[in-house]
Amino acid sequence: MTTEASKVPSYLVGMGCAVDMEGEKRYNSGMFRFWLKPGEKANIVFLSDGNDVPCIWEHQVMLYKKGKKDYNNYFTCLQSTFGSCPLCDYSTEFETCWRQKVQLFTILNLNGYFSKKLNKQMPYSRQILTAKKATSEILMRKYAARLDQNQRLRGAQFAAFRGSDSKSPNVGTEFEFIKMVDLGQFPPDDVKVLDVNALAPNRDLMIRTCQILRGAANNTYSGAMAGHAGESTDDVVSVEYGDEHDGQLPQGNSAVE
Ligand SMILES: [Zn+2]
Repeated sequence: MTTEASKVPSYLVGMGCAVDMEGEKRYNSGMFRFWLKPGEKANIVFLSDGNDVPCIWEHQVMLYKKGKKDYNNYFTCLQSTFGSCPLCDYSTEFETCWRQKVQLFTILNLNGYFSKKLNKQMPYSRQILTAKKATSEILMRKYAARLDQNQRLRGAQFAAFRGSDSKSPNVGTEFEFIKMVDLGQFPPDDVKVLDVNALAPNRDLMIRTCQILRGAANNTYSGAMAGHAGESTDDVVSVEYGDEHDGQLPQGNSAVE
């Protein structure tokens, strides 16, 4: 029989060492980053406008989650808030995980997807389009073109296309304006822009992540880095390391490909 004493109140995640501390992530856990494979295209509608897009310095780190590579780990750089940043220090030392200046556009990706959770086909999803310098310049020209037509970027639908070059920005290389969309047809929550508070730096999580990266670097660092550094690409800059939670290294040779 379960006693009242052993029952965990609903406001607690859990008690003691059995608590799973996974999930302490930022907005990205709720909103996917938009990306295209080389040669792929998608219909997207901008929810951000050209003059209200948050821009931050950001680090991206590849972590192993349950033995699989997970690139969906983003950290707002701490330099401007704290005067120093553990991931900046790490990137200088290991020449990876450099911070990048990015604009985070909120979009609706009209390419549907199948939701396993809801067990049905969804017609669209709200996502973050991460624009680095080159992409930002393209999108700001698109924004200016909308203003010339007395329209806004918010509500504008584009066909985003990524060229076949695997080094091309993974959010697309061409954005062809299709039409203005009435956002009133969507539920209000579905057309909200990203809350900038979700971008606030998480110092504790970054420090813990750096400890793991350094531990892995000391044990398994082979000089091999996944991803591709460089200003011209939106690809991932990352480091290989063992699983965060059980301290074990990835199976087989998946650590270094
Ligand atoms: Zn930093």
